[in-house]
This record gives sequence, structure tokens and C-alpha cells, in this order.
Amino acid sequence: MKAAAREGERRRTGNDPMQRTVIRNAIVLSMDPAVGEHLDADVLIEGEKIAAVRPNLGPADALEIDGRDSIVLPGFVDTHRHVWGCLLRNVSADWSLAQYFGGVRGLMGELYTPDDMYIADYCGALEALDAGITTLVDWSHNINSPAHADMAIKGLRDSGIRAVFAYGNANKEWFAVSDLPTNFADIARVRRQHFSSDDGLVTMAFAARGPQFTTLEHTESEFRQARALDLPITVHVGDGLWGLNKPVEQLHARGLMGPRTTYVHCCTLNDREFQLMADTGGTTSLSAEVELNMGQGNPALWGCLKHGLRPSVSIDVCTSVGGDMFTQMRMLMSVSRGFANAEALRERRLIHPVQVTVRDMLDFATLQGAKAANLDHRTGSLTPGKDADLIVLNTASLNMFPVNNPAGAVVEGAHIGNIDSVFVKGRAVKRHGKLVDIDITALRRRMESNVSALFARAGVARDGNWSPAPYVGGSETRSVAGASH
Ligand SMILES: [Zn+2]
Repeated sequence: MKAAAREGERRRTGNDPMQRTVIRNAIVLSMDPAVGEHLDADVLIEGEKIAAVRPNLGPADALEIDGRDSIVLPGFVDTHRHVWGCLLRNVSADWSLAQYFGGVRGLMGELYTPDDMYIADYCGALEALDAGITTLVDWSHNINSPAHADMAIKGLRDSGIRAVFAYGNANKEWFAVSDLPTNFADIARVRRQHFSSDDGLVTMAFAARGPQFTTLEHTESEFRQARALDLPITVHVGDGLWGLNKPVEQLHARGLMGPRTTYVHCCTLNDREFQLMADTGGTTSLSAEVELNMGQGNPALWGCLKHGLRPSVSIDVCTSVGGDMFTQMRMLMSVSRGFANAEALRERRLIHPVQVTVRDMLDFATLQGAKAANLDHRTGSLTPGKDADLIVLNTASLNMFPVNNPAGAVVEGAHIGNIDSVFVKGRAVKRHGKLVDIDITALRRRMESNVSALFARAGVARDGNWSPAPYVGGSETRSVAGASH
């Protein structure tokens, strides 16, 4: 029996298209209201798809996974991460946003080789999978040559993650306000060569500089070219001093707003801008931890909700912060509740009930993420017929039992160490707490070799003390930005 189970496991990781797997007697948070939450239910995976989610499924002729002591939920969706930056992990932990532009843009970005793009994207995607993030929007804005694009895409594909490769300009095109045009000939080539269909596990989008980082003329031309290639658009707006130029109103004035458009950060937008995003069918992506630490502004959860925009959640840069979704959900919820509580205290009011819940946070980190990635027809909830992108959390560890509130346990209690299994499109990429068929030691050696060479080319010591000069070009209040350093 055990040998048969092992054989079944082997076949499943081998991605047998008709393999059936059933997870029995688990707590299930489906994130689909029609499927609901269950304290004891079975999840049947058939090939690439979720076939059924319900209690007492009965005989299934499938590989059996014991789901007691488990919570099963959809994989998380990170809707904005500059994955190439993971080679520079944590260098900017103490940097301002202006220093990030100075150090990462002003120095390191230009020095990346295509192989650096590959290894960063490959490792960054594996890091996300290990953390239960099954869909990643790779906001790839260091495409210094066609080979850089090709290798970033290869890194994503080799990892086995579901991803959106958002093509986002060369390093030198990011010095605000840049009047360098975007290489749309190469974007069209990538669309043709790598993404002739939108049905693959990796799909494509355009990561626009937008009115904060390039001219409105370029922005207009680029939005129109991206849409002519049928690419969704993702764009930073409302971050820090760069975001005070009413970027959304500028987009609106040129008639550039529309569906399949994600607005990232949104911290410093005004009420009208939130309303415009909602009215035109846009989606939002909030990166609370980076925004709080680096000065983009206060996370915009209340502004989004006030105007009917249910946001998605993103990690942004692993040069500063960690790469898991538990931290981001906790940060966004705590800081948003904290702002509301502080205001109520000032006004001598009590807040009751709380205005955003752990179930909201799970919705933002899964289904709303899938909507922002334009992939909610395939992923984001445990809905029969969708692809089987799901995670299994072990609740038998000290930080998880007793489970009195499953959604609360995931958002407030869990960490990466609790993730037993991760499935992407029916394939087990993590089982028993370990990524399947990945040699971490070999990977670490390769990463170390690339990062040592990169720092050597830059002439920067890797001693934990690098503190680059701030870059304040393009910000509206240069003297203030400069004076703070
Ligand atoms: Zn970003």
C-alpha cells in the first residue's frame, strides 16, 4: 500500500495529465462563495484541474493525501514583484526610496547580465513557490537587451510557477522623467516569439513607466501600442514624491484608462483618481511593507475600498523586504486598522466592528490577485473547473493549533514553515515541506557566483554597509528629498 502511494506520488510529480489526487478531511477555505468554507471536506484534483470540493466525496480512485491537521486554500497571487532584484536581496533594507533609485537603478541595474536575469528570476520564482505563491506578476523592468528578456522568461518557465511576464523597459529608460522611448520592436518580438498564445503557464503584460517616469507623450504612445498587441498594462502610480503629479488624472485626460490595467501603490492619489480607476474597471496592487519602509506613502486600502476597489497584494522588491504573503497580509491589515483606530481615538470614537477582516485579506491575496493578473478564469479560488493552484498548510505545529478560526490562523498565525504542499496546475511543486526535485545547494552556489561577480563589477563591498547616494530627479520636491539625507 505504501509502495503504491509512493508510486502515485512519483507519477503526480511527473505531471501525468490524468493523475487524480484527493486531499481528504481538510479544513478548506475555497475563496469562492459558491463553494464556501468547510471544516472537514475533500478536494479532488484531476490532471490539471480542480474536479470537486465537498465533504464526504466518497471513493475517488485517486492518490490519497490525508488532510487532517491541514488547511487547504488557493495559492497566493503576488501582483507586482521586480523578481530580477532578488540577486540583491535585502541590500536596501535601510534605504530610502531615493537611495533605491540611486543604488539599484543608478548602479546595479546596468551591470546585470542576461545570466543574472535568469538566475534571479529562476530563484525568485522558486522562492515564491516555496512561500505558497503560485502566481507571480514579474514586473521586469531591467530589460537591457533582448537576451535579458529571453533569460528572464526562461527563468520563470524553468521554475514551474504561473507567472505574468510584464515587460518593463531597460534600466537606462527609468531615470525620471525619461524621454527615451520604449523598445516596442522587442516587445512585439517577445509577444510573437514567446507568447503567441495566452494559454500558457506564463503569459505576458506590459509594465509601463507611466506619467511619473516618462513623458505623457511616450505614455500615450506606449499604452496604445501595448493594447494593440493585446497586452494588459501594469503601472506605478501614487508612490512617494514621484506620485504627487496626479498620474491617474493625466492618464484619464489622454483617454488611456481602461480594463486590464493594474495601478500599483496608489498611496498619494486623490479621491477622484480612485474613482477613475474604479469607473474604468482597473485593479490595484498594494505593497504595504515596502510602502511603509521606503516612503511611497501610507498603504491605500481605505482609499480603494471607499471607491469599491478590492485591492490585490504585492511584495514589490526583495532588495528590501521578505518574499512571503503572510507578512504582507498582516502588514496591510494591521497598518490599515491602525490608521482607522488612531483617527477614532483622536475623535474619541470606538470602532466596532473592525472594517477589514482576515477573510478580506485572504480574498485580496488570492482571488483579487488573480483578477489583477487577468487570470481569475484559471486561478485564485478552489472552484471546480479552474486549474489546481493550491496550498496545503500543516496545522500540527505549535503556532497553528488549536485551530479555532481557520482564516485567522492563516493570516495571523501562519508562516512559510507551515506550508506542506504547493500545487500549480495540478503539479506538486512542493511536498512534505520541500520543493520537489530542486537542488538548493547547487542553486545557492550559482547564485553566490553571480552575485559576487555583480558586486565586483560594481566596486561595492558586500559587507552589509552599502549606502548609496539618493537619486531625486523627477520628484516634485527635490530640495526636500535632498535635505532629508
Ligand atoms: Zn514596484
